[in-house]
Amino acid sequence: MAGGFAKDGAVQEQIDATIADAVSHARQRLPNGESLQNCANCDKPIPPARREAILGVRLCVSCQESDDKDAVIRSGYNRRGSKDSQLR
Ligand SMILES: [Zn+2]
Repeated sequence: MAGGFAKDGAVQEQIDATIADAVSHARQRLPNGESLQNCANCDKPIPPARREAILGVRLCVSCQESDDKDAVIRSGYNRRGSKDSQLR
């Protein structure tokens, strides 16, 4: 018997946690409710066409773009960081 400290169940738990993480990230990023009249970030008016196209939109186009980039960087970094520290 090899002294494996990671049982099958533990591996499955890690997979589940990873999926749950990804789902909750995705949920947080889904806009819901009323669209804002003005960008939540820079307070510029959001065009009506954009508000209708995206339910619950909160950011103008340029803020949304930079927010999307930040989110990819942040979530990638956080996920790697937190999982690594849990595994060691
Ligand atoms: Zn903005």
